[in-house]
Amino acid sequence: MQRTKPKETDVLILGGGPAGMSALLWCHSLGLRGRLIERAPEMGGQMLVMYHQIFDYPGLAGLTGAELRDRFVAHLAELGLVWQTSCAIDEVELRARRVHCDGAWLEAGALVLATGARKRRLGVPGEDRFAIQGGISYSATRDHSLYAGKRVAVIGGGDSAIENALILSRVCPHVTLIHRSDRFRAREEWFAEAARTPNITMLLHLDVLAIEGRDRVERIRVMDRRTGLPGEIEIEGVFIRVGIAPNTELFRDQIDLDDEGYIAVDASQRTSLPAVYAIGDVCRPVCWSVATAVGHGAIALKAIKREPWL
Ligand code: NAP
Repeated sequence: MQRTKPKETDVLILGGGPAGMSALLWCHSLGLRGRLIERAPEMGGQMLVMYHQIFDYPGLAGLTGAELRDRFVAHLAELGLVWQTSCAIDEVELRARRVHCDGAWLEAGALVLATGARKRRLGVPGEDRFAIQGGISYSATRDHSLYAGKRVAVIGGGDSAIENALILSRVCPHVTLIHRSDRFRAREEWFAEAARTPNITMLLHLDVLAIEGRDRVERIRVMDRRTGLPGEIEIEGVFIRVGIAPNTELFRDQIDLDDEGYIAVDASQRTSLPAVYAIGDVCRPVCWSVATAVGHGAIALKAIKREPWL
């Protein structure tokens, strides 16, 4: 379908994580007028919460997420590219490819949705209170020293939960890993290491009902899924690692999502709408990594460049 070329922006990128930054870079490489908006006060997305060293990003091994982000941002700045942070998007019309942001509508020939994902919360009583006042954490890499010498629990059954349990087992006298299912989905070598670590106990089939305590975290209330019987586990700190959830709330009812709310895309990162692409963690990559997000940016922009109106 032939379309009129929009006046100012060829490609409007929503989200300033590694996928969005890569897309902006590729706009530049391909001679497209790109514009990137990010709702947070700074660029980086999930890179800002990667506190460990990243060893699998070629050529830049050993940087933390924030340090790698700094390299990306410096690269964009060297090329004279511009982006806008603290940009509050309150409405999106995907079919019209326009976005309402800070009181104005922004329009583009193509939209690239790179809004990423966030750590999923458990959603039980006590979580909000202790996440604010202390006692609940979502990252052992960042917070392990705060919990040194304490008995802690980790909730979840994937790579993140096992990785967190292993980190904590080095500084805590005891770590209870609480999982709702009958098997862990974490990578086998990490699971095996956790299984042979003497101060890690793994408890299966348990739903967490509440996190309780007077002035600090004192116990987790649980229920055995098989028997329905309630129980309590005394602990002094809780690490919640129950997966991640896509930031797709703005797009719901406008675009095809999969059963977990991720944006459905084809191999060129096309969504179910014409000229709307999705990249990075918002569309459930096969492999969750900075490298994958960066690759998505390249794939999408190459496909956009082939769109007939550009
Ligand atoms: P994940 O693989 O999606 O696992 C989430 C776990 O949380 C599952 O075991 C799930 O249980 C459980 N869960 C989900 N909702 C729950 C709820 N409401 N209550 C209790 N349990 C709940 O998530 P992840 O471990 O955060 O990992 C995300 C991705 O990052 C994965 O692809 C992983 O491989 C990757 N990762 C990579 C590294 C690394 O390479 N360094 C480190 C960490 C993570 P069920 O199994 O019952 O569904």
